[in-house]
Amino acid sequence: MRKILIVGAGQSGLQLALGLQTRGYEVTLMSNRTADEIRSGRVMSTQCMFHTALQHERDLQINFWESQAPKIEGLGVSVAAPDSSRAIDWVGKLDGYAQSVDQRVKMAGWMETFAQRGGQLVIHGAAVSDLDYFSRTYDLVMVSAGKGELVSMFGRDASRSPYDAPQRALAVAYVHGLGPRPEHPEFDAVRCNLVPGVGELFVMPTLTTSGRADILFWEGIPGGPVDAFKGVKDPAEHLSLTLELMEKFLPWEYARATKVELTDANGTLAGRYAPTVRNPIGRLPSGGLVLGVADVVVANDPVTGQGSNSASKCAASYLSSITSHGDQPFDEAWMQSTFDRYWDTAQHVTKWTNAMLGVPPEHVLNLIGAAGDLQPVADRFANGFNDPSDFENFFYDPEKTTAYLSSVTGASAGA
Ligand SMILES: Cc1cc2nc3c(=O)[nH]c(=O)nc-3n(C[C@H](O)[C@H](O)[C@H](O)COP(=O)(O)OP(=O)(O)OC[C@H]3O[C@@H](n4cnc5c(N)ncnc54)[C@H](O)[C@@H]3O)c2cc1C
Repeated sequence: MRKILIVGAGQSGLQLALGLQTRGYEVTLMSNRTADEIRSGRVMSTQCMFHTALQHERDLQINFWESQAPKIEGLGVSVAAPDSSRAIDWVGKLDGYAQSVDQRVKMAGWMETFAQRGGQLVIHGAAVSDLDYFSRTYDLVMVSAGKGELVSMFGRDASRSPYDAPQRALAVAYVHGLGPRPEHPEFDAVRCNLVPGVGELFVMPTLTTSGRADILFWEGIPGGPVDAFKGVKDPAEHLSLTLELMEKFLPWEYARATKVELTDANGTLAGRYAPTVRNPIGRLPSGGLVLGVADVVVANDPVTGQGSNSASKCAASYLSSITSHGDQPFDEAWMQSTFDRYWDTAQHVTKWTNAMLGVPPEHVLNLIGAAGDLQPVADRFANGFNDPSDFENFFYDPEKTTAYLSSVTGASAGA
C-alpha cells in the first residue's frame, strides 16, 4: 500500500486525504489544529463554491451539508454611482447552484470522518525540518497548508504573478438577521457590489456553526476608505465599521442590514495577502521533494470567490494524477506534470481574478452594463464563476466582447 503524507487540513488537503483513503492509500494527515479548535475558532473564508467544485465533493460522497446549506441560485452585480445610487443592477441565474459551508463546520467534520475511517491524523504544526525527516518514510509528501509559513519552500513564479503586494484589504463579518434581497427574494443569490475606486462588498448566505447566516465581505483598495479594519480587534467594532461603510457607499445593502448581529465572537476576519503563483515543487534540505497543493502554489485574491473552488479542482486533479500513476515513483517529472495538468484550469482563474483587481477597461464596463438589459449576458457572466475559462470567449478582448454582445442583441431582436 502506498504511503502518502498530506500537510494541512483545509479544503484541498482534506478532500485529497478522504479521496485517497477510499482508494486504499495509507494516508497520514498533519494539521496544526484539532477539529474542535477549528470548529470553535475564527472564520477563515466566505468559501462560496460553484457547481463543478461541489460536484467533486459529491463524487467522493463527502457533501455532508448539501441539504442544510442555502442553495445559491443566482449571482447579482450592482455598481454604485458616485452619488451612491445604484447605477447598474442585475442578477444572473446559475445553471447549477452554489453553496457556502463555513470551513469551521466542513473542515472539522471532514477531519473527524477521516479519523473515524481509520486515517492517521497528526496534530502538529509542521516545520520544514519535520518534512525533511518524514519525507524519507513516505512515497509522496504533499503540502496543502494554505498561505502559511511553509510556502517559503516554494519559490515565487514571477512570470505568473503580476502583483507583488496585496491588492485588497479584506474584512469579513458573519451575521444573523439580514433582510432578504429586495429583487427576486424567492431565490438565494450572491451579491457583488462594486464601488469604483473604493472596492467591493460581497453578500452571501452560508451555513455556519449556528445554522443559516449571511456574510458581509468588504474588499477595500489599499489606502482607500474601506482599508480601515487594520487594528480593529473588537468584533462589535468590526461589525459597526462594516455597516458604516455600507451605509455610506451601498445604502441599498445597508437598508436590509440594520438589524444584523454577529453569529459569534469569532465571526469576523480581517487581513490581506499578495496574489502569488509559486513553483509547485519544494526541495527539502536533504534533497527530498514535496508537491505543493492549491493555495500553496496558486493563491488568488478572493475578489472572484475562487480559492475554495480551485482547491477542490486541484484536489480532484491531483487525485486522478496519483491514482493513474499506479506503482511508479512520484518523482520530479511526475510532480511537474501533475501541477501542469492542474494549471490548465487554474491559469484561467488567475488571469480573470487578476483582471478583476485592476481598473475595468471600457469594454468590460459595457459588458457589465449590457447584462442589465440582456438576461443571457447576465447568466453567462454568472456562470463564468463556475468555469472561468469561458471568459476567454467574451471578456478580455474588446472585439470578442463586441461580437458577443452583437450576437446576443441580434438573437434577442430576431426572437
Ligand atoms: C476573506 C476570504 C474570503 C474568501 N472567499 C472565498 C469564496 O467565497 N470562494 C472561494 O472559492 N474561495 C474563497 N476564499 C479562498 C479560500 O478560502 C481558499 O483559497 C481555500 O481555503 C484554500 O484551500 P487550501 O486547502 O489551499 O488551504 P486552506 O483552506 O488555507 O487550508 C490550509 C490548512 O493548513 C493548516 N496549516 C497551515 N500551516 C500548517 C502547518 N505548518 N502544519 C500543519 N497545518 C498547517 C491551516 O491551519 C489550514 O487548516 C476566501 C479567502 C479569504 C481569505
